[in-house]
Amino acid sequence: MPKIIIDSKEIEFKQGQTIIEAARENGIDIPHFCWHPKLSVSGNCRVCLVEVEKMPKLVISCATLAADGMVVNTRSEKTLSARRAVMEFILINHPLDCPICDEAGECKLQDYAYSHSVGESRFVEEKAHNIKRTEIGPRIMFDAERCISCSRCIRFSSEIAGANQLTFTKRGDRVTISTFPGESFDNPYSMNTVDICPVGALTNKDFRFKSRVWEMSATKSICTGCSRGCNIDIWVRNNKIMRLTPRNNEQVNADWMCDNGRINSFKFVNAEDRIDSVQVRKEGFLQPVTWEEGIKTAAVSLKKFKPHEIAFIGSPYATNEDNYLMAKLAKALGVQNISIIQHSVEGDCDDILIREDKTPNLTGAALAGIRPNYNGFSLNQLVDGIRQKKIKAVYIIEDDLYSIAGADEKAFANLELLIVNSSNRNKTTLSADIVFPASTFAEKNGTFVNFAGVVQRIRPAVATAEMDRALDGMEMSKWDKFGTKFDRWMQGEKKDAKPTWRIITQIGEQLGMKFKYEMAENVFDEMSGAIKEFAGTDYDKIGSEGLKLKSEKIAVNV
Ligand code: SF4
Ligand code: SF4
Repeated sequence: MPKIIIDSKEIEFKQGQTIIEAARENGIDIPHFCWHPKLSVSGNCRVCLVEVEKMPKLVISCATLAADGMVVNTRSEKTLSARRAVMEFILINHPLDCPICDEAGECKLQDYAYSHSVGESRFVEEKAHNIKRTEIGPRIMFDAERCISCSRCIRFSSEIAGANQLTFTKRGDRVTISTFPGESFDNPYSMNTVDICPVGALTNKDFRFKSRVWEMSATKSICTGCSRGCNIDIWVRNNKIMRLTPRNNEQVNADWMCDNGRINSFKFVNAEDRIDSVQVRKEGFLQPVTWEEGIKTAAVSLKKFKPHEIAFIGSPYATNEDNYLMAKLAKALGVQNISIIQHSVEGDCDDILIREDKTPNLTGAALAGIRPNYNGFSLNQLVDGIRQKKIKAVYIIEDDLYSIAGADEKAFANLELLIVNSSNRNKTTLSADIVFPASTFAEKNGTFVNFAGVVQRIRPAVATAEMDRALDGMEMSKWDKFGTKFDRWMQGEKKDAKPTWRIITQIGEQLGMKFKYEMAENVFDEMSGAIKEFAGTDYDKIGSEGLKLKSEKIAVNV
């Protein structure tokens, strides 16, 4: 392999790599604004200038190919002096409004101003002023004064999102980005430019001014907006989700996520219609009861029916662990009527990330034992069975019976028992006999399998009352068993919700079954022994990157 020396360190590189790429792969950080590993090279910010032996002038490391035997210095006085000059030049017209800028705390310009600048400017003239607020698209606000004309947003739009929506206009210190006349920057991936903009010129309208970056915790998780399962960080302050941002995973979503997933897939966690107490119908009305009473009532009520009179409906929104235990409870009770509701939007997909299946775990639920038409039992048969009063009891998790396409809703009134685990109110919870408040994807540990057979972990980013109780008295070093980084002492309301797998465990125990699971991980460990596709996997192996399951049959069209 060819070798290059950077800052006296000899490193190997791949033919075709630029200096900045070779350096980065070997842990040497060369400052850069316009260069981005996923975009074409534009070479316009000049901050990545380095000195190369035998070259008469400094070169930009993003556009200079590494060559065998090349000697590069990223810290020579000549390099540092040029870098300081570039920083001074870029800062000439920058408004320096960090105290009111959303990017502060995660801003490349702010960071480099500390690490690569002299800290003062010789420019005493009036700075060029520009428009501070332009709604450049429905989800993005543009501050032209902060823009350093790196062109990342322009290149992202045309090269990744496939939407040529942005361009530079004007010249010199008046240059700015703009959409074409009369057009809006509204492609389905537009908000990724907020992440890659190295300054606070592009801000997320849904998040701006809601929180400083350092006030939030970031927890690694998975977007639940579709079966792609984009890797995300969940940003939380005072136990409320403030924003989602994409997290790199080359086998799933690279560095990106769609705008819909970013904005719409977490609002229900913070919503007012969360269910926060167990409820049992008494004298026609749902009444709050203790967990103990709710669990006991569910177990006693289920026992009143013959197995063929009961149907269990799993959920593609719930984890593998949740669905696995639902399937296990059904088996223990002899219930054969098992199904799941699919939520696909025909035509709402593309070749980038977005999938028609708007749920995160249809594939995983199938592997865990809950699939459409299981044992030939379809949703039509379910509705017909209820209408004919052959099916008298339904237990449904994390879904809405009334979302079954074309279902005769009046038939559901025939049910003698309807039990539901749900995080938010819906038609099913309103007509149910027993309602259990279920933790959302942001409040529990568990796993999903995406459409391509990659099993991935979710972790609690938002605390529930249960976690609070469990963490009480637990040593700090053991908190990571919960797989979360949330601040134990943070303020904020905590919902009295439990993960579905735990609710089912308690019902199973009440029915006299040996359901002994203390953590979601215990359920997964059992699954990895019982389900061949999960064999040899565990939470540690899945880690933060996920694991492609081996079976070729996983991407079945379930
Ligand atoms: S808006 Fe941001 S990403 Fe776009 S050119 Fe300006 S600084 Fe670069
Ligand atoms: S593509 Fe799907 S998983 Fe990815 S961010 Fe969008 S909705 Fe979420």
